Amino acid sequence: MTDVAIQPTVSAPPENIFPHPWNPDGSGSISTASLEGWVQARLARHQQAIDRLLAIEGPRTPENTLRRYDEAVAELSATGSQTALLNSVYPEKAIRDAAQDLTQVIAQAGVALGLNQDVYKALSGIPLDGLDDATRHYLKRTLLQYRLAGVDKDDASRARIKELQEKATLLSLTFSRNVQENVNTVTVEEPAELYGLPADFLQAHQAGADGKITLTTDFPDYLPVMTFAQSGALRRRMFLAYNTRAYPQNRQILLDLLALRKEVATILGFTNWADLATADQMMESAENMRAFLDELDVASKGGAEKECSMILDFARSRQQGLEAIDASSRGYWLEQYRRSAFEFDSQSVRPYFPYDRVEQGVLATAARLFQVEFRKVEDAQAWHADVVTYEVYEQGSSNREDRTTLIGRFYLDMHPREGKDKWFSAHPLIPGVFDHPEGEHCAPQQIPEAALICNFPGGKAGEPGLMQHSDVVTYFHEFGHLMHALLGGHQRWAGLSGIATEGDFVEVPSQMLEEFFRDHRLLATFAHHHDTGEPIPAELVMRMNRAGAFGRADWVRTQLFYTTYSLVTHTEDPATLDLDELFQSLYARFLPYTWIDGNRMYASFTHLVGYSSNYYTYLYDKVIALDFYSVFSRTNPLDDSTSMKYRRTVLEPGGSIPGKQLVLHFLGRNQSTDAFTNWIGEEFQAGASVYD
Ligand SMILES: [Zn+2]
Repeated sequence: MTDVAIQPTVSAPPENIFPHPWNPDGSGSISTASLEGWVQARLARHQQAIDRLLAIEGPRTPENTLRRYDEAVAELSATGSQTALLNSVYPEKAIRDAAQDLTQVIAQAGVALGLNQDVYKALSGIPLDGLDDATRHYLKRTLLQYRLAGVDKDDASRARIKELQEKATLLSLTFSRNVQENVNTVTVEEPAELYGLPADFLQAHQAGADGKITLTTDFPDYLPVMTFAQSGALRRRMFLAYNTRAYPQNRQILLDLLALRKEVATILGFTNWADLATADQMMESAENMRAFLDELDVASKGGAEKECSMILDFARSRQQGLEAIDASSRGYWLEQYRRSAFEFDSQSVRPYFPYDRVEQGVLATAARLFQVEFRKVEDAQAWHADVVTYEVYEQGSSNREDRTTLIGRFYLDMHPREGKDKWFSAHPLIPGVFDHPEGEHCAPQQIPEAALICNFPGGKAGEPGLMQHSDVVTYFHEFGHLMHALLGGHQRWAGLSGIATEGDFVEVPSQMLEEFFRDHRLLATFAHHHDTGEPIPAELVMRMNRAGAFGRADWVRTQLFYTTYSLVTHTEDPATLDLDELFQSLYARFLPYTWIDGNRMYASFTHLVGYSSNYYTYLYDKVIALDFYSVFSRTNPLDDSTSMKYRRTVLEPGGSIPGKQLVLHFLGRNQSTDAFTNWIGEEFQAGASVYD
């Protein structure tokens, strides 16, 4: 199946419906002036749409009012996401800096639109009677968000909110940039300290002229050290280097940000930020969030204690005098335990996962599940020569010149580069808008576009880029976001396009896809040994799955730790909040491994900026994702009509219906935590097969 879905390349990109800032005039070059000009032109179009909306006299209709509003939103969304992307990835610092400033200007325009009383009044004037469901949902949700932004407050309050939001935007950007640019290093003076690390890691980290080896806190160095390095001293140095990134500078920035958020919530009549931030989400309130977290606390506590005692017994049998396992050794002992108890070494699968084959496997799997085709665009221009551009078509569309089956376009920027964001993420770049989304041959007004920004091994000539299985799962996770953005990007309204669901539904499509990559039949289609070409053995995958099922309760507890931190920092009074004390006490509540003094992980916890109080999204969506996956056939999850039902009922609606209805339409019932609880306790004992 691997090669079926990837069609020969298309020779030329289609007409540039929406010129990009990295190629504003087709020359392929970018300057701070061209970027500024591109943004200003789009902001002018944004303003024109608002002016036209406000100039309407007579009765308000969706076409004369909501359409103009939606155009204004689409300009901001596409412009802001592309400048934010450049801020994360562009090779030149001057462009990244300019992109950061412009991202803030665009965010300010968004805040101003969200507080524009005249626009609010105009939208309120559209009668709800007779609207189609999606339009009614869009209008009602937009009006709620206006009220949550304080549009019905007095002038002084609105002015204050605007000021606070602008400051919050700047603090958020600075927090993230500090994390992005603060790469710490760890010096290895004694090569024996690298004992246990894989051969290709050692190959790539040769000593300098002074005989020392320098490691960085970037993920491709950090993760192998924490997982494989036998030296406890090295792991501890790496742990502290990693968990002090952007400290101390981000500590005060975070406190200032929390204070701003608290004041905004108070002006809007909420007790705290967490209540405000959940008011338009599936979760609805901080109280519901607490109840949800309590339920998972109970579901995971016993399993986590059992896992910890098994690892501890094992570690004591291997290391004389060991009393406890600390935070910097947990990953290492977990790995050692898995190797021993399940006869599984996560290194042993890496030769089967060279980057290029994984990429092909991810694309082929998505193509088969969702009945689409991916075509590489050879001469497309993006922000860097390493970026690869693809177009997505409906499967079986024979006529390559026929653009009506073009679904979307995406960019893959998959390997580390100096100055590039260090994490793994999917970025919607352009919200798709289609005239008649229900029609067979709908005319696109705007093709949806998205990008993946990752830091996987590989990308250099002659380097196979052997991935860990967790990297492979991450790849498919991010690809889940991408498919949601593109398949959900065929809406009448840009504001409903792609991942524009409630924020706490966004991780469902990505987490659901993760489950597929534990299936041997699927892995065997692309995971072939990079030297011998042999497909990954079924028996190795079975051992990997058993080993992988061990440690899930620990993972849930870790998520509960971060989630509760994200909640409590947004319910307590920031004036008296001690970020360190709270961090340490919650660690002790949820995790059994010894605390390490000096752990300031919160200073690089960028989700506190992006998700604020709503980090619960990952656990909440895992619950829904596992419930969804439980519906797929266990014997043949890939060739199951369930995947097309999933595409139609969950992905394609984008944000056009509420998340609770997406769940109802696919499952035929509300979500339950049963599949999640089973997943935590899934049999990992030797002899039992996790699949089938
Ligand atoms: Zn995600």
